Amino acid sequence: MGKLVIVGTVAYDAIETPFGKTDKILGGAGTYIGLSASNFDVDSAIVSIVGGDFEQKYLDLLSSKNIDISGIEIVKEGKTFFWSGKYHNDMNSRDTLITELNTLEDFNPVVPEDYKDAEVVMLGNLHPLVQSSVLDQMTVKPKLVVLDTMNFWMDIALEDLKNVIKRIDVITINDEEARQLTGEYSLVVAAKKIHEMGPKYVVIKKGEHGALLFHNEQMFYAPALPLAEVFDPTGAGDTFAGGFAGYLAKTGDVSFENMKNAVVYGSALASFCVEKFGTERMENLSHSEVQQRLMQFKHLTQFEIELT
Ligand code: AMP
Repeated sequence: MGKLVIVGTVAYDAIETPFGKTDKILGGAGTYIGLSASNFDVDSAIVSIVGGDFEQKYLDLLSSKNIDISGIEIVKEGKTFFWSGKYHNDMNSRDTLITELNTLEDFNPVVPEDYKDAEVVMLGNLHPLVQSSVLDQMTVKPKLVVLDTMNFWMDIALEDLKNVIKRIDVITINDEEARQLTGEYSLVVAAKKIHEMGPKYVVIKKGEHGALLFHNEQMFYAPALPLAEVFDPTGAGDTFAGGFAGYLAKTGDVSFENMKNAVVYGSALASFCVEKFGTERMENLSHSEVQQRLMQFKHLTQFEIELT
């Protein structure tokens, strides 16, 4: 069985969408990545930090999904990372209202001993120095390192981010962030510039417009499934990343051809995430539901054409 190390926030979120509003609920990039990757037969561990206010039932939830939580540090006297966001009517864009780093401010990640030889490392959206520190702790060079980031870290730690980007194989980033990172409007040109920064593979997430995978001159596109109901897009990008990394850890095949399947798995899992608020949908997802959705993806995009 493949091993997957995930580093990312385990958090409290408060979310507002045109459909409603939540108080503090379970969130965090690490949480969404872990829940998504748990749909694959892999040994995964989350490396993160929470405060004494973090409810045991959420840790139990992660454990019940066979996720190793020994790398989640609990600071009894500290507070858990808190993020609050409000979505616009199009549900594709949002404003961050609050980011309280809390315990994350002094986070020194510790990769569990058993996971220092993991084949796949998923560096979730976090301070780039924390992402680097996880890589430094790996005793065996991972087969694949995937990194996700966001504008927040570009704004406050751009040089550190560029340094860790040099060390990774795949970056997953959304369209606006790819533009911000490169100063290019065209996503094709942006992907080329990101290649030049280090990663051989660039995945650009375009929300409800799907995801693009770039590798040198090759390009692959997977749509997002058009859904009748989208309640809350929070965590969709992380769920995508968790599905992508989980699938590659399970198959052990990191070729471009197999990465196309990983993009489709990531998109399929993300399509569930948005159907309910927070992590709710990802907490109760069956294998057959995932399989059915993959078939829907296949039918959505498959066509036979005769060249005339
Ligand atoms: P996504 O919708 O995929 O971008 O991810 C949303 C999740 O990212 C939420 O559950 C937040 O807790 C988490 N998050 C928001 N801002 C940050 C940040 N600056 N660093 C790390 N995680 C964050």
